[in-house]
Amino acid sequence: MTSTDKQKQGKECTDECNSCSTADQCSDPKEKQNVKEQKIKLQLKKIKHKIAIISGKGGVGKSTVTANLAMAFAMQGSKVGVLDADIHGPCIPKMMGLKGQTLLGTPDGRFIPVMGRLGIKVASMDFLLKNDETPVIWRGPLKMRLIQQFLFDVAWDELDYLFIDLPPGTGDEPLTVAQSIPDMDGVVIVTMPSELSEAIVKKSVVFAKQVGIPVIGIIENMSGFVCPECGAKIDVFKAGGGKRIADDMVVPYLGSIPLDPKICNDSDGGLSFIAENKTSPASNIFNVIVKKIDQFLENVNS
Ligand code: ADP
Repeated sequence: MTSTDKQKQGKECTDECNSCSTADQCSDPKEKQNVKEQKIKLQLKKIKHKIAIISGKGGVGKSTVTANLAMAFAMQGSKVGVLDADIHGPCIPKMMGLKGQTLLGTPDGRFIPVMGRLGIKVASMDFLLKNDETPVIWRGPLKMRLIQQFLFDVAWDELDYLFIDLPPGTGDEPLTVAQSIPDMDGVVIVTMPSELSEAIVKKSVVFAKQVGIPVIGIIENMSGFVCPECGAKIDVFKAGGGKRIADDMVVPYLGSIPLDPKICNDSDGGLSFIAENKTSPASNIFNVIVKKIDQFLENVNS
């Protein structure tokens, strides 16, 4: 039904698509767009905080940080969701013990997120793939459409925090997320201490600033290793790069997470490191980071 159709029926189009009883049948492109935008706004409004986790390069522990932050916030009693926006290399389901699950659809064309520990809701490309060997060979527009579907067509409902695990770099996916969520709270940037990562992570900071998203802070992951035999600290990938970049680029520094073989074992085994090792040095740092993120959100909203 177009606005002209409605006028023919004696109904005047008021452009109030949100409250219009026939909005779903409307074929007017302008009105259709209106309805879509209203629905998106409504969906995003139900999620109090949207935080993207980004990195300049792969393998620095971005997904590990996402999965553990999600669990840390859920352990505090918050309602948490994780959107795994890494279309080509989704690994959140494996890390969160949800491998093999599928995203089910609803009759009205929405997806029901997979439910993880402590009720964490998860959406990932991995839930749509038949097996691990199938590569996703998609160009930008298709990926953008899927990410938008994950954002707007997944029944996230009321959430305190939605963590979005983005693929490394500053390509289509981060841009789509940045443009689709105008009220994004900010990005957490994960890096490693090496000079190589240091140079690349600066691009992530500049990206966030250019697209107008606040930088919540930088995390240096894989920052030193304490030998379990002798207690000596070894800086496997050097140390201090994350803090240096944060100071250079005038953004907050959130903390340094050490290398810990248990982090890798737990991720591989689908266990949550932070839930399984509540008092380990790395878990303590995660908890400090959680407090700093909360503080950042409080300051922004006060
Ligand atoms: P990214 O998302 O940046 O590509 P991942 O989170 O997938 O990186 O991490 C890559 C690998 O490194 C995973 O096997 C993960 O378990 C491991 N890992 C990440 N952080 C640590 C850490 N602090 N100590 C030990 N292993 C880690």
